[in-house]
Amino acid sequence: MLPSDLTTLLTEYPPHTLLTPGPTPIHPDATRAFLRPMLGHMDREVFALNREIQADLRRMYGSAEGAFTALLAGTGSLGMEAGFANLVEPGDEVLVCANGSFGRRMAEMAARYGARVRLVTANLGEAIDPAEVAAHLDGVQMVAVVHGETSTGVLNPVPEIAELVRHSGALLTVDAVTTAGMEPFDGDAWGVDYAYTGAQKCLSAPPGLAPVAVSERAFARFSARRTPNPSWYTDFEGLRAYWSDQTYHHTVPVNLHFAFHAALRAALREGLEARALRVRRMGQAIFTALAPLGFSHYVKRPEQRLPTVLALRLPEGLDDAGLRSKLRDRHISITGGLGPTAGLIWRLGLMGEAARPEPYRIFLAALEDLLGERGMLERFEQSWAASQPQRPQPAMV
Ligand code: PLP
Repeated sequence: MLPSDLTTLLTEYPPHTLLTPGPTPIHPDATRAFLRPMLGHMDREVFALNREIQADLRRMYGSAEGAFTALLAGTGSLGMEAGFANLVEPGDEVLVCANGSFGRRMAEMAARYGARVRLVTANLGEAIDPAEVAAHLDGVQMVAVVHGETSTGVLNPVPEIAELVRHSGALLTVDAVTTAGMEPFDGDAWGVDYAYTGAQKCLSAPPGLAPVAVSERAFARFSARRTPNPSWYTDFEGLRAYWSDQTYHHTVPVNLHFAFHAALRAALREGLEARALRVRRMGQAIFTALAPLGFSHYVKRPEQRLPTVLALRLPEGLDDAGLRSKLRDRHISITGGLGPTAGLIWRLGLMGEAARPEPYRIFLAALEDLLGERGMLERFEQSWAASQPQRPQPAMV
């Protein structure tokens, strides 16, 4: 039996301050919606909810009216895999921008679906140069790029890359895992053909759903395939059968749909521009708090910094693993580097509900205590207050 009062239920667990680059703390509206009584995946109320999710996803991705949107029952990687499974045929030339772990994951998946992969790379901590993309576009059927490379905190110049791809006839796939829902995303205006994210990132919904957007052009390319899609589960036709024609394909996780719907509604209510501003103000306040200790930006060029993952180079001598373990003892989770940046950086999550002052106050207070340093919280508060939008002053009479 569930206690009738959700607050009582939640106090059975110790509170946790989750500041990783995903998953993010669940939005309270999503927690509440998750606990709705179960309905069947073919229930009319669920189909009505799905239609709202599809329309809301079009807004989040800035997709055209005719774009197909849906939730895949899996994490962000399933969204990634579905793009290559549906839109790549053996022998296709696919140009993958790979300046970190997730770009490399894309390249590996494209190859598994039979693509001949061309890589455009950049130094770690640097964005992909659109000129490099332009130089390798000839004869390419698809270009794939990660918008925000979570492994290094780099923002790739998707609008500029899209502009080049648009004139080439290739499809453009964008990994929007750390951007969609937090940053304005103009899929249609930019010319994005396939975009995906994970529910547990910028939307602060539970993990287990991959929201995708497929342009009409991409759907037409899929429909004209010479060979069947080797993935039955993610097949666009099967997904369309359920999401558009309301016929059975597989049993969707209905309670995750409830939670996702509520989280996406909350994000759109706040507004993507307001969310983008909130992230930047938070990032600035955290950096102001930590910089005097010797933390510095890992990504040198400001315009290449991903606002939702604050990648900070650690001060000399800081005990990375030991400190993070002590924070975890206090129910605070933060993430270090990945692969070559392990021990070198921290990646502080600023997606969805993580990008709020309250959890960072808890983190900074714990850090002050563990390091025996003072002033971090004060600097944070000053920067945060100074970045408040100015209220209009009453007119003098
Ligand atoms: N792409 C990016 C940019 C990511 O950050 C992640 C996960 O962190 C993924 C793809 C894979 O998503 P998931 O772990 O939900 O499968």
